[in-house]
Amino acid sequence: MSDVFNWQLGREMSYPYDESHPDWQFAFVFNINRCIACQTCTMACKSTWTFSKGQEFMWWNNVESKPYGGYPRNWDVKLLGMLEKANPDEQIWDTFSKGPEKPFGVFEGKTIFEAADKDPSARAPKRALGYLPTDEEWQNPNIHEETASGKTMKEGEWGRSAQLPEHDIWFFYLQRLCNHCSYPACLAACPRKAIYKRKEDGIVLIDQKRCRGYRKCVEACPYKKPMYRPTTRVSEKCIGCYPRIEGKDPELSPNREPLETRCMSSCVGKIRMQGLLPVKDGKWEAAPDHPLYYLIQERKIALPLYPQFGTQANGYYIPPRWVPQPHLEQMFGPGVANALVQYSCPDRELLSVLQLFRSTQQIIYKFKIEKGPKLAEIERTLPSGQKKVQEIYNDTVIGYNKFGKEVVRATTEQPSFERTKEHLNSI
Ligand code: SF4
Ligand code: SF4
Ligand code: SF4
Repeated sequence: MSDVFNWQLGREMSYPYDESHPDWQFAFVFNINRCIACQTCTMACKSTWTFSKGQEFMWWNNVESKPYGGYPRNWDVKLLGMLEKANPDEQIWDTFSKGPEKPFGVFEGKTIFEAADKDPSARAPKRALGYLPTDEEWQNPNIHEETASGKTMKEGEWGRSAQLPEHDIWFFYLQRLCNHCSYPACLAACPRKAIYKRKEDGIVLIDQKRCRGYRKCVEACPYKKPMYRPTTRVSEKCIGCYPRIEGKDPELSPNREPLETRCMSSCVGKIRMQGLLPVKDGKWEAAPDHPLYYLIQERKIALPLYPQFGTQANGYYIPPRWVPQPHLEQMFGPGVANALVQYSCPDRELLSVLQLFRSTQQIIYKFKIEKGPKLAEIERTLPSGQKKVQEIYNDTVIGYNKFGKEVVRATTEQPSFERTKEHLNSI
């Protein structure tokens, strides 16, 4: 085992290989607040990559309802239970020691790599704590859809309207794909060294020729994103739509402009933004005018999914406003309160950057904001229950592609068109 630095945990951790980083890192931000669970993303991936024989139960992208849904069933609850058992009562964060290198403080518990030797059921030493889901657990990708959690309603309480900051009865949609982790557990566990992380973009791939279908990656990935294909007897996973990232779509990127992936660019709810972050000396280069860097590092409004697992996952989420904070903190770490305060009442700069979500198919590398006139003042409710007035301006955000070319211009107030009365119902 080597010691590698994991910024999400604020400390070094054990990992089976030495630190090695790509030149650019594939990453994405999902705004959970906006997802409508239409599954367009899911079908966009399915119809592009996993429509063949043997891939029937393979959903590289899936959207599940929390708290009860999961694909495979109970994937996160099971692993959290294993970690708790391996390190009872110690899976906690020291949030007092925050700093530039440790924005969320220090995770004092054990990651899946550090708890690997604590699995009593393992016959041989493991590289990461994990389990192999059963066939049954893979069978129902959207089980418990929209099943809510919360306190039991008393007589007469039905019909009470939901109130922010938190709802008594709640559920939310969690959008998932491979996180193209900085310290991938799938790669760490593969005895064939068939899994690799690409230098040019950090995308994690399985070499189909080297894989022998031992399923060690399926067992080790805490997010359960590699999947076994019985017809070929090898494992497969999300490939980050790398031909699009490379700008190889002759129709949409004639000059090799990098495009966002299929699941991202098809998102109906406009919740997704994906991109590539420049990496230098093992860290993301400071780029406050890069939309992903801005949301993740500058504003810390987009948080990693289960950072305590230790893979330094590169999928980030703006948490939902209406869900009890303890549940969110277990899922997204100690940055939740700060993220919710900001999202509850975004300032004009943040509001502008949020307009970039799904505004273009091209990957945005840089943004600029041009100031506009004041539109309105609206009272918002903060997570504490306090009220705050939000000032809204009609600013314009401009997005630039890899080659510095302007590819999008979006105003805070969306342009609209009102039909004349005589054409109200015509097309
Ligand atoms: S397409 Fe977008 S809105 Fe629809 S389910 Fe997927 S992430 Fe949610
Ligand atoms: S999410 Fe899982 S499959 Fe994807 S890189 Fe991370 S460990 Fe590997
Ligand atoms: S990035 Fe591409 S391969 Fe991966 S889940 Fe999305 S659509 Fe599927």
